Amino acid sequence: MNKRWTIDKIEKFVTENSDSTLLTKEYHGFSQKLLFKCSCGNNFEKTFTKFKNKNQRKCDVCQPPKESR
Ligand SMILES: [Zn+2]
Repeated sequence: MNKRWTIDKIEKFVTENSDSTLLTKEYHGFSQKLLFKCSCGNNFEKTFTKFKNKNQRKCDVCQPPKESR
């Protein structure tokens, strides 16, 4: 069963599960790139799927993309 995400729920998730802030005020679907503000002050764009499922919860400076770990 799919969980229905709304911008309010996403904002709550972002606040509770990361140091970042959600700047986007409308959610149109899982493929939409959302705008976040990192705790370092940088803004970054990411889909909520990546943010949530891939643990990409900071900007590329604080959390550089890695192929493998
Ligand atoms: Zn950052």
